[in-house]
Amino acid sequence: MELFDLKGKVAIVTGGNGGIGLGIARGLAQAGASIAVAGRNAAKNAAAVKALEALGAKAAALEVDVRDEASCRALVARTAEAFGRVDILVNNAGTNIRKLPQEQTLADWREVLDTNLTSAFLCSQAAYPAMVKAGGGKIISIGSMLSIFGGPLMAAYGSSKGGIVQLTRSLAAAWGKDNIQANAILPGFINTDLTKTAKVQIPGLNQRVIARAAAARWGEPEDFAGIAVFLASAASDYVTGTAIPVDGGYSIQM
Ligand code: NDP
Repeated sequence: MELFDLKGKVAIVTGGNGGIGLGIARGLAQAGASIAVAGRNAAKNAAAVKALEALGAKAAALEVDVRDEASCRALVARTAEAFGRVDILVNNAGTNIRKLPQEQTLADWREVLDTNLTSAFLCSQAAYPAMVKAGGGKIISIGSMLSIFGGPLMAAYGSSKGGIVQLTRSLAAAWGKDNIQANAILPGFINTDLTKTAKVQIPGLNQRVIARAAAARWGEPEDFAGIAVFLASAASDYVTGTAIPVDGGYSIQM
């Protein structure tokens, strides 16, 4: 369907080499986009590129450390060099250090904020001129249920994910005139490397998610393909500054 067609579009997906990022990259690739897979781990990047090429997409592996400004700028420049343009940026790379606030060090705090929030600011700022040049763009940033709720082990992570929602609103407000739409996705509890340890560190989490989510299951990376295609395509041209839960209904009931 033309509204959702991404043929000729170029997408950068940070953390696109696994988990939710790869689920999103697969969706965008299947809709016709070329994908820059951007992560630190070269072997994971290469494997993701293979998987995307197997779907018939063009893809390139680009090493990046999203905590570093120069690295974010180089990522955008290398994507434009490889594919000729940049239309879509998915700010997905993320991490968590689960500790009580009184035990969290400043270094822990900075690590989480730099990886999850400052990275989205830096990559969006770096991508802006290329999007203006392309006549518009789509910025999709990954928040969390911790954009809405708090948790004892979540001071840094929750602050970063709350910040993603506010950053999204400000980018949308600033760049609407440039035909750039910025939106956030708030995932519920999704089976990835990041949550393997959470299931162990947070007693009862597994059962709580299944009991509370209306879908009665954890999410899978594939559950993010549809929302990503919507937010990356012309179908969402009048949707901007929003934060959309993709949580199997976790946030709609106690
Ligand atoms: P994964 O651990 O599978 O993926 C994290 C990704 O981020 C990896 O691809 C990793 O690549 C990349 N990454 C981490 N640090 C950096 C860095 N400094 N520079 C570049 N890339 C980096 O976890 P998820 O797929 O679960 O997480 C993806 C996003 O979804 C995160 O923002 C997370 O907070 C969010 N989220 C996840 C939820 C879940 O339940 N799983 C729930 C809510 C939100 P590499 O290893 O190559 O560095």
